[in-house]
Amino acid sequence: MTTRLDTSIETWGRVHRGAHQLAEPAWRDAVAEAARATAAAAGTTLAHGLGRSYGDSALNRDGGLVRTTGLDRLIAFDREGGILRAEVGLSIDALLRVTVPAGWFVPVTPGTKFVTLGGAVANDVHGKNHHVAGSVGRHVRRLALWRSDRGVVECDPEVESDLFSATIGGLGLTGIMLWVEIALHPIRSAMMQVENRRFADLDEFFALSEDSADWPYTVAWVDTIQGGEALGRGVFSRGRHAETGGLEPHRSGGPTMPINAPSLLLNRVTVGAFNRLYHANPGSAFRGRRHYDGFFYPLDRLRRWNRLYGARGFYQWQGVVPPADARTATRTLLDVITRSGEASFLAVLKNFGDRPSPGLLSFPMAGTTLALDFPNRGERTLALMAELDRVVSQAGGRLYPAKDGRIPAAAFQLGYPSWRELERLRDPLLMSDFWRRVAISDGNGG
Ligand SMILES: Cc1cc2nc3c(=O)[nH]c(=O)nc-3n(C[C@H](O)[C@H](O)[C@H](O)COP(=O)(O)OP(=O)(O)OC[C@H]3O[C@@H](n4cnc5c(N)ncnc54)[C@H](O)[C@@H]3O)c2cc1C
Repeated sequence: MTTRLDTSIETWGRVHRGAHQLAEPAWRDAVAEAARATAAAAGTTLAHGLGRSYGDSALNRDGGLVRTTGLDRLIAFDREGGILRAEVGLSIDALLRVTVPAGWFVPVTPGTKFVTLGGAVANDVHGKNHHVAGSVGRHVRRLALWRSDRGVVECDPEVESDLFSATIGGLGLTGIMLWVEIALHPIRSAMMQVENRRFADLDEFFALSEDSADWPYTVAWVDTIQGGEALGRGVFSRGRHAETGGLEPHRSGGPTMPINAPSLLLNRVTVGAFNRLYHANPGSAFRGRRHYDGFFYPLDRLRRWNRLYGARGFYQWQGVVPPADARTATRTLLDVITRSGEASFLAVLKNFGDRPSPGLLSFPMAGTTLALDFPNRGERTLALMAELDRVVSQAGGRLYPAKDGRIPAAAFQLGYPSWRELERLRDPLLMSDFWRRVAISDGNGG
């Protein structure tokens, strides 16, 4: 297996990058050799999908990396029952082109289709339908992974259930997944029925969320500039798969952000984006139809949009707080942000449901989640996020490892009390920058 030194691999937020010994196997039976060859120099390696994690859970700097995107074959697709087994490097982008014409959709999707199945399972991703469908792990029926100490192991909720549970949301540490089998969601149309409406404050957001229990997809964008009376105003969007309109999948294409944007442009985008969205959605509800691509993946229209934040990159922060404290904690979070003057370009607010995940270290839990982008302005930004972390920890919530690349060990361990169990089940050959920081380097984990 050929490996090469790659110094360009970076997180989606572009704050972290570094040198990796990289291998890109094209076949499942080449994964073992790729893992061992990349680990030979530094002792550890890690699977890497499409690199859409904003933080450092997909990096293993000065160690090995096994990029899985060459493992992108469909293994079996039951068009009657909607059960699909595919190699882990298959992207949701490629998957939907095959399944939508047959009347099936992914059971859960993140806000970009440029993620691999392996990456989606390793972070147990959630989507706009969390309140009805839970996270993606609930829809995984079976998977196979390669471990350096055991070879290929197949697991499901009954067989090797510990390993199955630890692998869902297991941050790539329990082995390198080779294939996954998931249950798809039936659709009759590629179109969505969509309804958008403004809300004036957080009370209205919570009322709209409660009122939308029969809408399978809900999400809100919230203003992070206006405090005072306007604190927590936003646009609430809800949708469902339409009954008619054909089953045409999305097309490829769209422009690519060519170079790093100057900070002047960033400021204009940041300040203008929310206002444009807000004013485009008047008080009375907007109702319409949209293709699933525009509804689920608006950011995919501009490839490499992460360059908008310039060379220093950006942090994405996401936390969830349980229902009991959700209103107060969310208000405090927004208050901290508006007072800081660090407006977030994208501030996404959603109520998660209470469907439990089989994942040992899954991020989603019942409650309210807020996701934010902050341009990297060094200490200022880190101090702001530390304040947000405290609000989440005090409310008994947790932070999303796929996001910011700087979650402190104490906050992580508090939010994920089962982390030692993941460390126990970790493949000794696998390691990530994230895990080194939150579980190993504080002296408690090794
Ligand atoms: C625009 C945008 C919107 C997003 N929206 C959401 C959202 O709504 N909800 C959400 O939950 N997330 C969201 N995300 C985050 C994204 O879904 C996750 O970070 C996802 O894991 C990325 O998949 P990837 O293929 O790029 O994996 P990578 O980022 O390359 O890797 C992610 C993790 O998966 C592990 N991994 C990858 N392949 C394997 C394998 N074969 N075996 C074992 N481990 C493996 C890696 O080691 C790493 O720990 C969003 C990201 C972007 C950029």
